[in-house]
Amino acid sequence: MPIKRRILLVATGGTIASQLSAHGLRPDLDGAQLLSYVPELQEEYEIEAIQVCNIDSTNMTPKVWDEIVAAVECKYLYYDGFVICHGTDTMAYTSAALSYMIQNSNKPIVVTGSQKPISEENTDARQNLIDSIRYAGDPLSQGVVLIFNGNVIAGTRAKKTYAHSYNAFSSVNFPVLAVIQERKIIRFIPQQVYQEPVRFCYHLNDSIVILKLIPGTKPELLEYLFQNYDCIVIESFGVGGIPQSLLDTFYEQMEKWISTGKLVVMATQVANEGSNMEVYEVGQRIKEDFHLMEAYDMTLEATVTKLMYLMSVCRGSFTAIYDGFYKTVNYDILSR
Ligand code: ASP
Repeated sequence: MPIKRRILLVATGGTIASQLSAHGLRPDLDGAQLLSYVPELQEEYEIEAIQVCNIDSTNMTPKVWDEIVAAVECKYLYYDGFVICHGTDTMAYTSAALSYMIQNSNKPIVVTGSQKPISEENTDARQNLIDSIRYAGDPLSQGVVLIFNGNVIAGTRAKKTYAHSYNAFSSVNFPVLAVIQERKIIRFIPQQVYQEPVRFCYHLNDSIVILKLIPGTKPELLEYLFQNYDCIVIESFGVGGIPQSLLDTFYEQMEKWISTGKLVVMATQVANEGSNMEVYEVGQRIKEDFHLMEAYDMTLEATVTKLMYLMSVCRGSFTAIYDGFYKTVNYDILSR
């Protein structure tokens, strides 16, 4: 009889584990209870479950990411693959964060969840869990991925784009790595060859904020953000630029704060195809004047968590953060 592949299910809550309370859906089931809904998999795999927390993922924090990473790290040698059950609302942030916190993993780390609780009769939860365990148990799988509705998405490329549909996640500016049809995994992207051993990282720096521009954004906001955060990601319009009405304050604040190591990174509100600040005068000048970084084709979730990671590991070295930001990790950035 072949040796069964060993899978660790790391439960964190989310809709998949929720039951109806007097005030709406609330996470309730633990990891072992989730597994009781897919008994057929116990015959194929050796699956164990641990519980990191039982929260609606609205309440996810970098501290809980540390706990998830610790759960994977301390069991890394004993299992062939990991499945993290998670709420969908912040799942793309978690899959991006884990892509930076767990690098060069030849073992798969799958993040999944569902739009409907596993205890309901009509649910996507069972299929998502089955797909995730099958993928995690396949010897060709590796790295951090998000699996939903049969799509295997690189951890840095996922975005929740539908609030209710089963097809909740899209792979942004990058193809899906694979699809799962019935029991078959159809792979589109070849395996990566890691030059270094797996690396775990903790304690992301969360002194970061997103400023989403609207026509008429007030300059006082910039002053406040510069004073209170180490990094501001400006979600600009189109391919990227700063409106004239903010420019005076922007120049004044940048000149004051840049020498203290504070960062400004430009991104775009447009969901697909990414930024390119060099196209228009409103972007090109400030980019040149301040050597600004921009997200290009990265998702906002990857941009934010990559900066949290780099601010933590590079300890204030602008050059190291700049170089690290443009270095591809788990398919997160293509163009530059
Ligand atoms: N609010 C839920 C959560 O993110 C939604 C879900 O899991 O689908 O935990």
